[in-house]
Amino acid sequence: MTTITQIKGGTDNCYIVADDGKAILIDTASRPHLDKVIAECDKYEMKLIVLTHVHFDHAENAAELSKRYNIPVAVSKTDEELFEDFDRQPLSSYGLVGKLVLGLSLKVLRNTKVEKPENLIFVKEGDDLSSYGIKAKIIGLPGHTLGSIGVDVEQKHLFVGDELDNWVRPALGHLYYDFDAIKDSAQKIKDLGQRTIYYGHGKPTENKI
Ligand SMILES: [Zn+2]
Repeated sequence: MTTITQIKGGTDNCYIVADDGKAILIDTASRPHLDKVIAECDKYEMKLIVLTHVHFDHAENAAELSKRYNIPVAVSKTDEELFEDFDRQPLSSYGLVGKLVLGLSLKVLRNTKVEKPENLIFVKEGDDLSSYGIKAKIIGLPGHTLGSIGVDVEQKHLFVGDELDNWVRPALGHLYYDFDAIKDSAQKIKDLGQRTIYYGHGKPTENKI
């Protein structure tokens, strides 16, 4: 049976999806929360880390955890450049919440260098994760970053990273690199139908259909 554990690192979420003792980690939270993430991961046979995108609050512990469990880190090829330089895909925001979040995070986003994992693999739309013990597929959700991806588990649980967020209520990601793309991705999520949506920030909700 598939179980989902939400790990809260401050305002950031990461998730363990487990099935029959084997598990994948979706995002990794930021450095101050590493011990908390390890404490949860240690309960499972970890198989894979998936990064919904390469921002520090999702990816900062990836290299460390990859070494600890000797497992690969899956990311989209298009986000690889963000390990080098956050500003390759600068962010804009909409609304008051967006302005606040961007104001608070921009400096840290710019100044935090996310270590690139040695064991990096590239994934794209449609890739199947069953060889890692989880019945899930990668779904492309560009917009927040160019290479943002989601993970669709058993067509029931959808992990969307920052493509959508739930700071106040479920909404389009308040920060984006490409607004048209983030709108298209939101429509794509809507069209998937019945799902529980797990956000990078905020509590899970049911999909808005
Ligand atoms: Zn982000």
